Amino acid sequence: MKILVINAGSSSLKYQLIDMDGEIVLAKGNCERIGIDGKFTHKTNDGRVITKQVDMPDHTAAFAQVKEALISGEGKVIDDLSEVSAIGHRIVQGGSKFDHSVLVTEQVIQDIADYASLAPLHNKAHVQGINAAIAAFGKDVPEVVVFDTAFHQTMPPTAYMFGVPYRYYEQYGIRRYGFHGTSHRYVSQRCLELLGKPDGKGTKIISCHFGNGSSVTAIKDGKVIDTTMGLTPLDGFMMGTRSGAVDPSVVTYIMEKEHLTPHEMDELLNKQSGMLGISGVSSDDRDIAAAIEAGNERAKLAWDMRTYEIIKYIGGYIVALGGVDALIFTAGIGENQPTLRAEILNALSFYGVKLDAEKNKVHGEETEITAPDSTVRAFVIPTNEELVIARDTKAIVEGKAL
Ligand code: ADP
Repeated sequence: MKILVINAGSSSLKYQLIDMDGEIVLAKGNCERIGIDGKFTHKTNDGRVITKQVDMPDHTAAFAQVKEALISGEGKVIDDLSEVSAIGHRIVQGGSKFDHSVLVTEQVIQDIADYASLAPLHNKAHVQGINAAIAAFGKDVPEVVVFDTAFHQTMPPTAYMFGVPYRYYEQYGIRRYGFHGTSHRYVSQRCLELLGKPDGKGTKIISCHFGNGSSVTAIKDGKVIDTTMGLTPLDGFMMGTRSGAVDPSVVTYIMEKEHLTPHEMDELLNKQSGMLGISGVSSDDRDIAAAIEAGNERAKLAWDMRTYEIIKYIGGYIVALGGVDALIFTAGIGENQPTLRAEILNALSFYGVKLDAEKNKVHGEETEITAPDSTVRAFVIPTNEELVIARDTKAIVEGKAL
């Protein structure tokens, strides 16, 4: 069975065609700058690469490129589109309604559209992506949606409520939803297998997804009890361009002083803050590390602030979980940044955590990075959100319960 995995953004459409027989990625690519000037990239598993500038006015036009690349020309990986058995979509915001992946129906599309008020850029783009996929592949190809928020739905109200008047929860659904759930789910399940407890019973895990966007999640008995991202992916600790949590008065104070609209303030917190905002150098971790190397003090401050914030969350989660069996590091930074991993694990040395400095040099490979006598085990586990989406899609179209 071949499954097309789609991640539709407002001006981009990423895809992977996965052969579930062996879980092999046959091809993957990205339609970028949709509605602007259009850039298309397509790569096959045997190393063929197509890159071209092509006008893509909307997501339907982007799908036309994807279809053509899959079945014809230099990047061809299948003979006919009928080989695509199902399509799985990544959806950022599933609100309180979706605690697992579901088959796409008219009602589901409407629900995703309704949740756009909580994730305007993302959910609108997802709806466009779903509609474009239906237009491109027809209604006979089943479509499944997999939500970033779903895995976090097990959080109790004590963890997901914010201390603002209760009516806002009732009226607008203001609460912590959490994101990166697909990634936390994948790596925590893998971690449970490595711990020899695949059913999760009696386990306590802290999963660290460190990428451009980052979050830490506390998982007890295989279920999320708390996570750092909130109503939106802005909450938590400092990220590439996002502030993470700040004193809420900072927001109103800056708005008042600089006469900013809510939208402008939102942009400031999401796009000009975090590692970029403090360092003034870049949002990219490699640039920050290079700047620190060159003696840039603000880059060093940004780095140290982030580490400190992360350590505080992890410390809090250890108490919330009543201990911890394993820590997981994943995503671009988590998989590739030994210094940050070492700082975090060394901060836990009082708790008996012992880093294996040699193993911690690893980049992007599943590795246990703590010593055998460490009280807590730590693992680098590469994430694979597309594979989770493909597996869920397969299970649902085969009628299996998730
Ligand atoms: P996104 O949230 O966009 O999916 P990623 O998970 O790809 O982000 O993470 C992007 C971050 O990972 C960037 O800050 C980048 O600098 C960092 N990163 C990626 N590869 C490496 C590497 N080899 N060494 C250090 N940092 C890396």
